[in-house]
Amino acid sequence: MNSLFAAYPRLAETLPYTPLGDFPTPVMPLANLAELIGVAGLYVKRDDLSAALYGGNKVRKLEFLLGQALRDGRKWVLTFGAAGSNHALATALYAREAGLKSISMLIPQPNAHYVRRNLLMSHRAGAELHHSGGMASIVFASLFQYLRHAARDRRFPMLIPPGGTSPIGMVGFVAAGLELRQQIEDGVLPEPDRLYAASGTMGTVIGLLLGVAAAGLRTRVVAVRVTQPQFTSMHKARRLFAAANALLHRADASFPRLAFPEDRLEFRHEFYGGEYARYTQEGMRAVGLVHDVEGLRLEGTYTGKTLAAVIADARSGVLQDKTALFWNTYNSRDLSGAIADVNYHDLPRALHRYFEEDVQPLDLTMQA
Ligand SMILES: *Cc1c(COP(=O)(O)O)cnc(C)c1O
Repeated sequence: MNSLFAAYPRLAETLPYTPLGDFPTPVMPLANLAELIGVAGLYVKRDDLSAALYGGNKVRKLEFLLGQALRDGRKWVLTFGAAGSNHALATALYAREAGLKSISMLIPQPNAHYVRRNLLMSHRAGAELHHSGGMASIVFASLFQYLRHAARDRRFPMLIPPGGTSPIGMVGFVAAGLELRQQIEDGVLPEPDRLYAASGTMGTVIGLLLGVAAAGLRTRVVAVRVTQPQFTSMHKARRLFAAANALLHRADASFPRLAFPEDRLEFRHEFYGGEYARYTQEGMRAVGLVHDVEGLRLEGTYTGKTLAAVIADARSGVLQDKTALFWNTYNSRDLSGAIADVNYHDLPRALHRYFEEDVQPLDLTMQA
């Protein structure tokens, strides 16, 4: 049962929702890494195992987003992302599960093996893929696709924002905050002093901030920025927090109106690396280290940079007597079997370059 509905049963009647994942996701100690880098208690929240089909953080958002699409009687959903977007792939896979069709509007990004895998899998899932060269052309192309589908189906597609970050999408991570409280009460882990998660479009970290506040936890959310500066700001954090809070309070008056806990949100900008999806030395070192000592598979766009922040804080003594929780937002389900017989030539031409050009240098050391 969704932790949010357990705490606020009225929300189960009022909010759109379609179950897709397996919750709660496990929490596991990272004892070897903790000892190595010097953290009193270090745990990982295994959102990589959020669903059997395809894990990662987008499943929580899509349970509510696709619930909304179904409630509204949509046939298509249209979403946005970089070429290798995990969000676009998750949307393609789970839209199909829900009996919907999907369109992904994609923009360029640095190349990596995972970009190829995600594109092949999105194609395999039946998503309609479009790739545009930049911001202006993606807006134009999206409008065109939106209207084309509306005219053909006599129904507008549902627009899902980049990363699935909208008030209803964020509700999935408010639920995650309450899920965490339950796991603390069950003795799975002590209350974390600091929770580390990647910030792409901010829905994950701000949903968690609201969820943690609603749960009455004192945990500080450390948001490790991996996208351009304008995507992660205190101003935007306030706006997202207020919008998701208002939605929940409207849907169930017993869900409290909460003050924005600015002192419990910390932004970290120094792990970004100058460009979205550009791998960094520290990020890749973190990926290698946690694989060696814990057997955990991370990647270079989001989770490696986030774990690099944990390691940096441990090294500077911030975590010496603290409990830290690393939120693993990346899928760990293996797609290689499913894409083995997909030929990239069957994808739109504009996407072939990801298969014909080299991957970025720091990806070569790692196939994951
Ligand atoms: C999308 C994504 C994130 C970022 O989530 P936001 O809610 O957009 O901030 C983090 N990690 C991974 C692996 C993702 O795919």
